[in-house]
Amino acid sequence: MDCRRRSDKEPMRSRAVFLDRDGILIEDTGYPTRVEELRILPGAIEAVREVNQAGFLALVVTNQSAVARGMIDETGLRALHAFLTRRFNEGGARLDRIYYCPHHSEFGSLEYRLACSCRKPEPGLLLTAAEELSIDLSGSCMIGDRMSDIEAGHRAGCLTILVDSGASKTGDKPVQDPSRRRPDYVARDLKRAVRWFTRYARLTRPRAANDCSERG
Ligand SMILES: [Mg+2]
Ligand SMILES: [Zn+2]
Repeated sequence: MDCRRRSDKEPMRSRAVFLDRDGILIEDTGYPTRVEELRILPGAIEAVREVNQAGFLALVVTNQSAVARGMIDETGLRALHAFLTRRFNEGGARLDRIYYCPHHSEFGSLEYRLACSCRKPEPGLLLTAAEELSIDLSGSCMIGDRMSDIEAGHRAGCLTILVDSGASKTGDKPVQDPSRRRPDYVARDLKRAVRWFTRYARLTRPRAANDCSERG
């Protein structure tokens, strides 16, 4: 159990829990543009802390077409995200990074109006994170409250968990449309989702995420 003896030829790859933002970490209130509108969901901070403690990166992947729609600019969005990260930190939980897609295929100035590869259900945000942070996607998981989250996770090669709290009021409800990919697991809330995944990861891969034990 000595990190320093790990072979250089086999760089350590991280594993991640990708988290949708609206409906998973904060209330899905539409397009929040001010910090006062960010309402962290009950149990979300504790759940992220569990992700941290289990040795996974906690990465947020969020569609923010509010930018394309001109409701907030990227500077404002980053400020919201910095505030959110601080609030989680104060609760002893770490959001390692927040990735967002500011685009929309129908709205916005030319800069943002495009059929991009990062708006979920496209897997671009997850793939970018994997590239930047050297993530083992097959050992990672995507947790979201819409089927577009599940699709993005599948296409990135992750395990997928749908959180169906029954509280979604928005159009793309977390119904399990049989014509689309099914999540690997459906949980009632984020805490249960995280618990299921960390247990699954322990059972299927005895080498804990990001640990430094050696292969036999
Ligand atoms: Mg959502
Ligand atoms: Zn995009």
